[in-house]
Amino acid sequence: MITGTTKLLGVIGAPVGHSLSPVIQNAALHDAGLDYVYAALPVRADALPSAVYGLRDAGIAGFNVTIPFKTEIIPLLDDLSEDARRIHAVNTVVIADGGMVGYNTDVVGFLAGFAEREIALTGKKAVLIGAGGAARAALWGLLRSNVSSVVIGVRNAAKGAALATDFAADGDVRAYHFDDSAFAAALRFADIVVQTTPMGMTPHTEEMPPVDMAALNPSAVVYDLIYTPAETRFLREARARGCETINGETMLAAQGAEAFRLWTGVRPDMELMKQTLRTALQCS
Ligand code: NAP
Repeated sequence: MITGTTKLLGVIGAPVGHSLSPVIQNAALHDAGLDYVYAALPVRADALPSAVYGLRDAGIAGFNVTIPFKTEIIPLLDDLSEDARRIHAVNTVVIADGGMVGYNTDVVGFLAGFAEREIALTGKKAVLIGAGGAARAALWGLLRSNVSSVVIGVRNAAKGAALATDFAADGDVRAYHFDDSAFAAALRFADIVVQTTPMGMTPHTEEMPPVDMAALNPSAVVYDLIYTPAETRFLREARARGCETINGETMLAAQGAEAFRLWTGVRPDMELMKQTLRTALQCS
């Protein structure tokens, strides 16, 4: 029951009506017996500062941040976690004593996909497909897990080079165009391959990233961040080559679970969050 002491959480974005977070977070809050409620909060694209300061001043406990505000919100915050600073994007804000701290739980979420399968990353050779926002989180997650190298495959060489340069001090990071023979060579010897483009996502389920599947190392672990469909064509073909595959479901549930922990200090039931997510995806 919502009472006068119920604490408020939410997600800000534009648009935000499609977000599955209210369903997942409220299920977990209810399950944990916590007196919080989580709502979708549509914010006009030109009204971010007044909305964020208004939420803070109205006593909200915290909120998630989605497109298009993940970077724009940074100057409004009092502090950032290391992950948020490195990725230069915030997806979770915790408000305590009037101060707002920005976090990025995508990194923890991304790494949970490997941890769940007990796949160690130290010393592994990684290939990343794509250089957008999710790729940044994945790249930082791989580097802070001490992989030996990351080769990024891109269609836009300048964007790939900029991403590699940003993380050059953190490890061996190189970016190549998908057509470059150096990219195909990296794929052949990769232990870990992470697909971060939207190619293959519902409704374009027959699309594939521009990768030569014949070059894929059959002993590689192949991770596609997409969660609809549960198995993309890319993952299906990788599995057919003998690769172990991971989809984006655990990442999505685990980034939400980490936000929940940051707000409440309680670890939610991840299995319940995943199950709620699957049900919500079937209904959406
Ligand atoms: P984004 O910032 O738009 O980046 C997309 C990347 O894919 C860019 O590098 C883009 O290339 C590349 N790309 C797009 N179309 C391409 C094409 N036809 N050929 C080659 N490259 C192409 O998007 P994002 O936020 O990173 O999200 C990417 C995917 O990750 C989405 O499917 C999203 O659902 C998924 N995701 C999942 C989770 C999770 O929790 N499981 C979390 C975040 C994201 P350019 O740089 O050249 O534009």
